[in-house]
Amino acid sequence: MLLQSSHSSPSALMDLPVTSARLLDGKALAEQILTTLQREVAEKMATGLPAPGLATILVGHDPASHIYVRNKRRACEKVGMTNIHHELDKAYGQTALLRLIAQLNADPSVHGILVQLPLPKGCDYDENEILAAIDPNKDADGFHPFNQGALMQGRKAPVPCTPKGIMRLLDECGLQLKGLHAVVVGRSNIVGKPVALLLLERHLTVTICHSRTRDLAAEVGRADIVVAAVGVPELVRGAWIKKGAVVLDVGINRNTEGKLVGDVEFHAAAARASWITPVPGGVGPMTIAMLLQNTFEAYNR
Ligand code: NDP
Repeated sequence: MLLQSSHSSPSALMDLPVTSARLLDGKALAEQILTTLQREVAEKMATGLPAPGLATILVGHDPASHIYVRNKRRACEKVGMTNIHHELDKAYGQTALLRLIAQLNADPSVHGILVQLPLPKGCDYDENEILAAIDPNKDADGFHPFNQGALMQGRKAPVPCTPKGIMRLLDECGLQLKGLHAVVVGRSNIVGKPVALLLLERHLTVTICHSRTRDLAAEVGRADIVVAAVGVPELVRGAWIKKGAVVLDVGINRNTEGKLVGDVEFHAAAARASWITPVPGGVGPMTIAMLLQNTFEAYNR
């Protein structure tokens, strides 16, 4: 599944004579996961059970959010899940949105609920209140405070999709993760913090960096595993990467030429890393695959 270019050995991480990293192909892996899900959904339905249902709620007209939701709905269709889609004007309002979520919570044909973030600015939406209103059992994104608390305690619960996808990609490298040093750049509730907790759960030593970190280059330079979730084009320079490190780039940014780039300087980093995710085609497709996996897990519960 993982595409390979020239590289000496993937088994150890310390100062390998790396010439070029192997590509962690999230697009191909996500396709594989969706195909498996499609078969599993068909098997359930063949026994007379209803299709799993994912409700998607999109408020406002943010172009990027529209693209993300469209891709999620397409994937839903591909695996044979029902999609209940609500596209709402940005003036819909907090109270009406809470009412809609309550309806979806009570609807037995809905197994997962996703509210696309961010909610429109300047409209008095309280994202925390909205996320907390979703039934934790239908929390397809894993953002409900109950589920985030469970993650912190190491208990089984829906896990946020992007961090879950990152861990799945990391497993593809076939490395012994225990004891390795991971550096996570970014501390958001949806990527940075949960991925740090998942790495900790797997017995890595974890450093979390953010905008106030004093020497980012030095921190990244000590990492066996780098997760970049910042939202700044190519902030993580290739020269910072320790030889043989694994690089997972979450960022989706446009550079000054309008080209889609990650948070990592890809080519320079690939010359030092053992494995690296591309942008696009790395973490992004995995986020969608994990969303549908979370929905299917909720359906099975
Ligand atoms: P947030 O904006 O919520 O968080 C960004 C984090 O980066 C913050 O913790 C911030 O620090 C830190 N940061 C900002 N500037 C710097 C800097 N110069 N040095 C070090 N740290 C810095 O972003 P998200 O976590 O939501 O998303 C991050 C990126 O990932 C974005 O590009 C987003 O589009 C992308 N994304 C991609 C997904 C996918 O499926 N591929 C899914 C979700 C997000 P501080 O806390 O101090 O402000």
